[in-house]
Amino acid sequence: MPKTSQSTRRIRRGSSKDKSVSEAAGTAGAGTSTGISERQANNLLRTVLDESPDFIVLKDHEGNFLLCNRPVADFYGTTPDEMVGKHDGHFSATPEQAEFFRQNVLAIMARGETEIVFEESTDDRTGQTHYFKSIKKPFVDESGLPRILVIAQDISDIRRAQQMVEESERRLRYVLNVTGEGLWDWNLQTDEVQHNARWFELLGYEPGDLSSSYADLDLCLLDEDRAAVHAAIQRCAQGLGPYRHEHRMRRKDGTTLWALDRGDVVERDSQGRALRMVGSFSDVTERKLAEAATERLAFFDPLTGLPNRRLFGDRLRHALQGGLRSGQYGALLFIDLDNFKDLNDSRGHAAGDALLVRVAARLQASLREVDTVARMGGDEFVVILENLGGDVLGAAAQAETVAVKLLAQTREPYDFDDTHVVSTPSIGIALFGSAEDTADELLKRADMAMYQAKAAGRNTLRFFDPGLQEAVLARAALEASLRAALERGELCIHLQPLVDATSRLVGAEALVRWNHPVRGLVAPIHFIPLAEQTGLIVPLGHQVLEAACRQLVVWAARPSTADLSLSVNVSARQFHQPDFVEQVGDLLDRTGVNPHRLKLELTESVLLGDVEAVVHKMTQLRARGVRFSIDDFGTGYSSLSYLKRLPIDELKIDRSFVHDVMTDPNDAIIVRTILVLAESLSLKVVAEGVETPEQHRFLLDNGCRLFQGYLFGKPVPPHELALPAD
Ligand code: C2E
Ligand code: MG
Ligand code: MG
Repeated sequence: MPKTSQSTRRIRRGSSKDKSVSEAAGTAGAGTSTGISERQANNLLRTVLDESPDFIVLKDHEGNFLLCNRPVADFYGTTPDEMVGKHDGHFSATPEQAEFFRQNVLAIMARGETEIVFEESTDDRTGQTHYFKSIKKPFVDESGLPRILVIAQDISDIRRAQQMVEESERRLRYVLNVTGEGLWDWNLQTDEVQHNARWFELLGYEPGDLSSSYADLDLCLLDEDRAAVHAAIQRCAQGLGPYRHEHRMRRKDGTTLWALDRGDVVERDSQGRALRMVGSFSDVTERKLAEAATERLAFFDPLTGLPNRRLFGDRLRHALQGGLRSGQYGALLFIDLDNFKDLNDSRGHAAGDALLVRVAARLQASLREVDTVARMGGDEFVVILENLGGDVLGAAAQAETVAVKLLAQTREPYDFDDTHVVSTPSIGIALFGSAEDTADELLKRADMAMYQAKAAGRNTLRFFDPGLQEAVLARAALEASLRAALERGELCIHLQPLVDATSRLVGAEALVRWNHPVRGLVAPIHFIPLAEQTGLIVPLGHQVLEAACRQLVVWAARPSTADLSLSVNVSARQFHQPDFVEQVGDLLDRTGVNPHRLKLELTESVLLGDVEAVVHKMTQLRARGVRFSIDDFGTGYSSLSYLKRLPIDELKIDRSFVHDVMTDPNDAIIVRTILVLAESLSLKVVAEGVETPEQHRFLLDNGCRLFQGYLFGKPVPPHELALPAD
């Protein structure tokens, strides 16, 4: 006997006034108007009913079967005829079930509406549960008796398939939660994002804490990561492959975690625009921290935290390449502590380690951020200095300055509990800047230089190149004595005549000389470059300018010399002083000189940089009457547009062109071009360095009207200048 269970769900549909079923079922025994006999019609109906896969039953108001098709009879293990006149009680397992079915029939009849009911029934013989979707339609037959037609479809297969899907979804959800991934499903059209519970949990939120709009979720990103995350999502949306990105996210409590976020577009419109993306993120903070720790171990010295030998090697190779590209020198400093072994032996390794940590800190504090200081092991440190300029002596001087500072810093006593420890270093310096320099070779040189420093009594520095060492020392000495010379007034000016086309004196150029107590008269070539590098050019230039003004004042007193002009060289560094205009203005006021007689010679290097500022300064001085000439014209990179904008009066053709004007056709062309150019810009031209009558002739023939050079007179002390008689 099969066991039948109650309905599981009930849906209402239609009403008992619908007579179509009652007609079909209720008139089954009546004749038809289609020409077939009643018997034939009955047989046909019987066949249709029996061949139907569905269970079809007609019951009276007592629940007795009036009609059953074969599938029902088969299910109950009997025949359709056997079932007629019986009720569920004859077939159901228990009287309670039979009563339930009877009540169910009565209830539906009472409600008078068609109902769809889901039922399950276990076949006792096979033990298999069957699921039915039953349409139960109550109606009243021709004799006025209530009836109910039941058509039950066996939906066991569909139901089982559904259950399997539900089960696999449940398992999938379980697996996804177990993997610890935070899942997201982003509707790009509405910009709404759905998340699983784990997603919120990873960020320390309750599901209700955040709105589902992407704009709000975006705030969980760190500002510095946001652009990269957006770019990665964009690439995926554009179809350039799945999205995968590692970035930090902010938890509710403000702490951050490292997220590995992955996803892909799962829906696009007909134009390929992304409509929906799904993905997941996992917390990879631990891995990130482990990676960082591994990197620290691989590249940094665990004791001092400084770059280790390996990272130093990389940085040095990098610096060597950078130096070649920029054309600037760099320096490698090798530092070894002088008495480290004694300290280690006497006070133990812990004290030794503590000292190394503090030495490292002092070295680091004494350097610029761009410099690299690394620990090579033991008590050896190295420093890489970059961008020390294109002049080898200047670079050496800078390296020495840094080394001196490091010496001073490290030799200061270190406080240890109750005592002071003094640890002096020895420093070796090797410069780099040529294509042949290799990292290994440089390290060897700096190391050798360091040993020289040790040999020289420790607590000092040595250059690898002894010539460089001497030069640096000489340079330092020169700087000190130049400084003193400026204070003692050992600098003076010599004057070189400037003549017109008739070789008549029209002015002079003031050229500085150093009246050295031991070396005698020193030419500017020996100290101007150093003065430029050290900044001493500013006070020096000022002294020269003052001397020139005083000379002009002397000349102004006599009619024969009152019209002479005096040219003064002004270096770029001096001109770029913020208060240069005021300084000159001050001098003009103080000396009472006629500004029209003063000419400032600027080189083209002044124009590099902020041209507007240069024009502004020149214009201010021009307004006071001071005139300007461009010195050594043709050797720099002045563009014509600059020349037009600058308030200048004069160009001075560099003497290198004049020197070869008779022998080198190129120089002849340059000189002619400058003369034509100046003519078109209404500028005067001075030819410098004229030594021979041939040069003079050539220049005259090509329109030059002002001359300076040994042909007319060398620079001489002011009182020796041949002046026109009154
Ligand atoms: P400069 O301004 O181009 O000065 C002209 C240089 O050419 C002077 O050299 C002068 O003695 C030299 N000279 C003149 N005529 C002839 C000639 O016919 N043949 C040859 N071979 N040389 C000639 P000096 O005095 O040695 O000055 C060299 C440079 O030093 C100057 O070049 C200028 O750039 C710089 N200088 C000189 N005095 C000062 C100064 O007071 N301030 C600044 N900032 N620079 C100065
Ligand atoms: Mg000059
Ligand atoms: Mg010149």
